[in-house]
Amino acid sequence: MKYPNKSLASKLFLSGERKILQFLLLIYGCIGILSLISCQNTMNKNRPIIDMHLHSYPTGYMGEAGMPNPVTGKPSSSIIEEAILEATLAEMHRYNITLAVTSGPLDALNRWKSKEPERILGGVFFDELTQLPNVEELKEQFTEGRLEVLGELVAQMKGLTLSDTLFEPYLTLAEELDIPVGIHTGVGPSETPYTCCPEFRVKYGNPVLLEEVLVRYPKLQIYLMHGGWPYLEETKAIMSVYPQVYADLATIDWIIPREEFHEYLKDLIRAGFGKRLMFGSDQMVWPEAIGMAVEGIESAKFLTKVEKRDIFYNNAARFLKLNETVNLR
Ligand SMILES: [Zn+2]
Repeated sequence: MKYPNKSLASKLFLSGERKILQFLLLIYGCIGILSLISCQNTMNKNRPIIDMHLHSYPTGYMGEAGMPNPVTGKPSSSIIEEAILEATLAEMHRYNITLAVTSGPLDALNRWKSKEPERILGGVFFDELTQLPNVEELKEQFTEGRLEVLGELVAQMKGLTLSDTLFEPYLTLAEELDIPVGIHTGVGPSETPYTCCPEFRVKYGNPVLLEEVLVRYPKLQIYLMHGGWPYLEETKAIMSVYPQVYADLATIDWIIPREEFHEYLKDLIRAGFGKRLMFGSDQMVWPEAIGMAVEGIESAKFLTKVEKRDIFYNNAARFLKLNETVNLR
């Protein structure tokens, strides 16, 4: 076949072919970019998180009828330990929480730990209902790697601070064995002294009260659970004088009003403590609290990606000496 104007036909063909080629490249490019974005999202979603504050409570520990989620008002999905354990582990997998410092009465903790020993670090619990174990037995459990953290110590519920003589042998042991210590700081639920704990006082949650312990046990690795909220100035004072002190953001990252949490967090970051703040959920009987706590950090627009990664993982990994301590992973 003879084209009346071959050069024009070939130009048209070539330009059409080029357009098709460009179109295909554009499509492939878009697919590439989209898959890169989705891949990055997946990677972000799948990046590991360490939860420095989780609880393993037996059935009925927070009341036979359970307790509604303080934010949503919805009842706990179950009051049965096994169901809460399963649902909590499912949430941990969903958010890629690879490690959680978990504390509760020892029997319950052992049941939780046996389910996924790689994911659960055993914490020694102390509150108004649960006593500390015998020091010699505890030493054995720490040495054998069956327990890894001394905490959560909720001394405030019993009207105590960490300076009380009760804690001396335990702090000595923790310092000797290089065991991290987690102390409850800040406040407790509304009306606490009228309900569970008549000896509870707000003042015992003040992080400044830890100072004597920090002086007496200078090698103790200690972290302020709940980040000392609402004692902002005192938390800053303690963290600036004692560089070994870290803090978790558990509970405040989902229970208190979001704006208040973000202002508090922003203050701690601005004060220069971004390398010592750690993620925590304080999940008790509401497995959904894990996601709510993650969202509390994710939604902080003032945090850089690096600061978020530090909070979600890096700071806790450093605090727990994960690279140095084979037992912990
Ligand atoms: Zn606490």
